[in-house]
Amino acid sequence: MIKLVTIVGARPQFIKAAALSREIAKNDNITEIIVHTGQHFDANMSDIFFNEMNIPKPDYNLNINGLNHGAMTGQMLEKIEEVLITEKPDWVLIYGDTNSTIAGALAAKKLHIKIAHVEAGLRSFNMQMPEEINRILTDRISDILFCPTYTAVKNLLNEGYDNIDCKIAKSGDIMQDAAMFYSQKEQKPHINLPNNFILATIHRAENTDNPKRLSSILEALNEIAITTPIILPLHPRTANIIDKSDFEINNLTIIKPVGYLEMVYMLNRCDMVMTDSGGLQKEAFFFKKPCVTLRDETEWIELIENNFNQIVGANKSKIINTYKNHKFNNDFNIDLYGNGKAAENIIKQLIKQ
Ligand code: UDP
Repeated sequence: MIKLVTIVGARPQFIKAAALSREIAKNDNITEIIVHTGQHFDANMSDIFFNEMNIPKPDYNLNINGLNHGAMTGQMLEKIEEVLITEKPDWVLIYGDTNSTIAGALAAKKLHIKIAHVEAGLRSFNMQMPEEINRILTDRISDILFCPTYTAVKNLLNEGYDNIDCKIAKSGDIMQDAAMFYSQKEQKPHINLPNNFILATIHRAENTDNPKRLSSILEALNEIAITTPIILPLHPRTANIIDKSDFEINNLTIIKPVGYLEMVYMLNRCDMVMTDSGGLQKEAFFFKKPCVTLRDETEWIELIENNFNQIVGANKSKIINTYKNHKFNNDFNIDLYGNGKAAENIIKQLIKQ
């Protein structure tokens, strides 16, 4: 019997945990204890994710949020350590690249508890990003690194991981599992959707905390929206900044963040995705939509190499030109992220260890 403590705290982690917890529940040899750090921006939204995706209720709610990075990570470290001392798991399971991820890894390592990192090996090569710092440090102290793609495996080998005492496993992408499963369960959002629209999101610190970048992105979207409607479920961080500014965004349809099943509904129906989100770039591909990425780099370079995605940064004319003129690859018949069996692969590997 294996005992796992799973750490979650941010929106994409709920989606990944939903996919993996379903697989864990099928297996009598695993007990899962879920720790919710509270990092997510909005308690209501977090409940919606847990309910609609049938994630088991967290065994521990740490309620740590609204703090600077150091304070947030520090408090998580302290509280997660207490949980691990009480629960004495065989493994700590962590996802992605957030403060919850690095805090979980650090707490486990110092207690000599084995760490399984899901979504290991990703790199943007931009050390200004908090996510890049978190993922590099987490990978380095993890015992088993579940990589979603060959690119992720290659990144680790380039960093000398074949000389490090850890196991690298290419599992496929757990977001693909979630997209395939929840695509059947889509829910109509509470707005009237136009026939042809662009689905957009903006939440990355590099955009929201830089007024020049944010205004340039918003001006581009606002101009495109004169002819093609843009639906923008807006992260509260971005909404706060926009509220305090005088950006002209009259043409955009701004809505509150939505649950994943509503997101899936819109992904199924939109014509294009414009985003600075990591997860959404892949979802665009899963739902066979071209993606314009509002960042200067991406961890998902196979999307760029295959011309499903274009990196445009925050450059207004580049955003507009790419939207108007770029011919994207529309043959999505290629396996980049596995076949929706990442959860099964991960569980098989964990049981083998
Ligand atoms: N998402 C959602 N509702 C929203 C916005 C995003 O369910 O209003 C989903 C989105 O489909 C993707 C995930 O949240 O699965 C991405 O989260 P986010 O953009 O916060 O993070 P990132 O992927 O950049 O870490």
